[in-house]
Amino acid sequence: MRRAERLVVGGGIGGLTTALALAKRSMSCTVVERQTEFGEIGAGIQLAPNALRVLDGLGVLHGVMANAVMPRRARLMNARTGAVITALDFGEAFRARFGYPYIVTHRSDLLNAILSACRASPLITLETSMAVLGLSAHDASVRVRCENGCEWEAGVVIGADGLRSTVRRYVLDDGEPDYVGHVAYRGTVPIDAAPGVVARDEITWWVGPGMHLIQYPVRRGELLNQVFVFEADTVGDPDGWGPPEELGRFFGDKVPAVREGAAVLDKDRRWILRDRPPDRNWTRGRATLLGDAAHPMVQYLAQGACQALEDAVVVAECLALEDDVERGLARYQAVRIPRATATQMWGRTMGEIVHADGVTAMLRDALLRGREPTDFGYVEWLYQSAPQCLRLQAGGEAAHARRSRAVQTD
Ligand SMILES: Cc1cc2nc3c(=O)[nH]c(=O)nc-3n(C[C@H](O)[C@H](O)[C@H](O)COP(=O)(O)OP(=O)(O)OC[C@H]3O[C@@H](n4cnc5c(N)ncnc54)[C@H](O)[C@@H]3O)c2cc1C
Repeated sequence: MRRAERLVVGGGIGGLTTALALAKRSMSCTVVERQTEFGEIGAGIQLAPNALRVLDGLGVLHGVMANAVMPRRARLMNARTGAVITALDFGEAFRARFGYPYIVTHRSDLLNAILSACRASPLITLETSMAVLGLSAHDASVRVRCENGCEWEAGVVIGADGLRSTVRRYVLDDGEPDYVGHVAYRGTVPIDAAPGVVARDEITWWVGPGMHLIQYPVRRGELLNQVFVFEADTVGDPDGWGPPEELGRFFGDKVPAVREGAAVLDKDRRWILRDRPPDRNWTRGRATLLGDAAHPMVQYLAQGACQALEDAVVVAECLALEDDVERGLARYQAVRIPRATATQMWGRTMGEIVHADGVTAMLRDALLRGREPTDFGYVEWLYQSAPQCLRLQAGGEAAHARRSRAVQTD
């Protein structure tokens, strides 16, 4: 039996950031990842100021920025007419308002920056080829069984093992996530492979009935990232193509920039999009959930990973402030569930807004058309509020100081 004071299950964006956040609070931890090496599948990722605030606090923002792109704006465009519906300006006023820019980057560039910082920390142990199969509660610990026969005993387990979380099965046992009725194709191509695409220094969000396409540059502007999403009646083959005509049906009648994007899209994998309704509990005894394991959401606010980053600093802060693990986890979820819930629900609503048809689409366009690009009213609640964890410190300093002294011998 191997022992870890704190065991993080899953070494994706959420799990590795949690390890860093714990180390920042002088707490040691072990991360167990089922893959043979740490890595991200998928392509680009958008990171809003609430995520950059976390990355900055953990000392990895500089590394993340090295390969990222700062788009000058995001534009919502009508995919059939090419008309601009509305725009959000990411310039000086945005940065002054939220303290950080909005960035887009390649997922592997983000993960590698976090991973390098984890590797440099003497408080973090990283273990690969450790697929967790099950958990069980024992007096003051949780035991974790891995597929390779390895067993762990941990004082606290943080399940950051994604959409199909094994830790979630132990904590909530609530079955499979829901199919939201949308599928996606996504990938990157060299940006010069699509000369007609306008998204060279911006995020372009093409919308139409039952579909949308997001395009933006990544890897210092060398690659174009694209995510095509559309409503599909059937899930089809989860690992391959749906009905062969499905892409053409949605994109054939759209403006040239959309059709050109579709033509060069890497179609090696069809993603079935799933989420869950919000939950009122993420914790069982000394085990809790984080990131997609806790609050899987559709990606239409581009916040799944951003919320996982927020979870990471809050769980570390709560464990640092409370001597009792279960009280710490209760405090963590009390802070995080309301915010994650709002993000999950807004994500679904956003899907309905961008996929609208007929009179609903006309109303959307009419309402948004008069918006100023520097009107940040719609995103204020989302990008502004990460420092909830700071509020936790009220009354908690004494416990934190005690904990900091104790961890010297941890
Ligand atoms: C098309 C699309 C676009 C998106 N775009 C954005 C965006 O622009 N911005 C944004 O913020 N979010 C975006 N998201 C959401 C974001 O990708 C996720 O919310 C984020 O990756 C969740 O991170 P995580 O660490 O919680 O889970 P994951 O990234 O799923 O990581 C889980 C890790 O756990 C490991 N694991 C799983 N099971 C086990 C086990 N049993 N034992 C050990 N290890 C295990 C996995 O191998 C993996 O490494 C998007 C999602 C999709 C589908």
